[in-house]
Amino acid sequence: MPHLNIAIDGPAGAGKSTVAKALARRLGILYVDTGAMYRGVAWLALKHGVAVEREDELVELLQRHPLHFERNSDGGLDIYSDGQCINAELRNPQVSALVSQLSVHPRVRGVLTEWQRSFARRHSVVMDGRDVGTVVLPDAQVKVFLTASLEERTRRRAEEFQSKGYEMSLEELRTSIVERDERDSSRDVAPLRPASDAHPIDSTGRTVEDVVREILELVERCR
Ligand code: C5P
Repeated sequence: MPHLNIAIDGPAGAGKSTVAKALARRLGILYVDTGAMYRGVAWLALKHGVAVEREDELVELLQRHPLHFERNSDGGLDIYSDGQCINAELRNPQVSALVSQLSVHPRVRGVLTEWQRSFARRHSVVMDGRDVGTVVLPDAQVKVFLTASLEERTRRRAEEFQSKGYEMSLEELRTSIVERDERDSSRDVAPLRPASDAHPIDSTGRTVEDVVREILELVERCR
């Protein structure tokens, strides 16, 4: 199969990672979750007591404790810090609350963007995030901007949190999603917005299979 890069961007809870993972599995290519990398930096900051406002210290922290990635049997990447797999800790409420505050820093983004591009150069990928189609992989052959109603996104996050045993009311979850989207959309560097050539998909009320099928049609068309 020729080298293929697929970019999926969109707001929190739109179903990007579920769709991207299923799509990558169908195509037999690598799934790269860029949000998990930003979450990895938030996890490091919490662990080492670095304030998320301090860009220089965050960059230094990443130099001292670079994250490592290993392909897993699921077709995605496991994230390691100092030899410890930290995947299970990346979606906890503390990390979720901090991550969009540090993702505003251009130099932090610069480090992560390089890692992301390096995967896309070496592998065919489905990559999801906020700026994949606009900044990380502007030449991706297929770009999707995936959205869903705020109600549905809140409900999906609630299900995810419940399954992991985290406690947060629907109201708190809704507020945290709105705040994160607002911060991600209004930052100066690589804000959340659709690329001009992205294909918009609203996943409200649709199954994962249905959305994946629509993207597979786009992939077929570009071949
Ligand atoms: O996708 P996920 O919800 O895991 O992303 C967590 C956060 O990481 C986002 O809210 C955003 O602040 C940041 N992010 C980003 N650029 C990306 C992916 C994620 O700024 N490409």
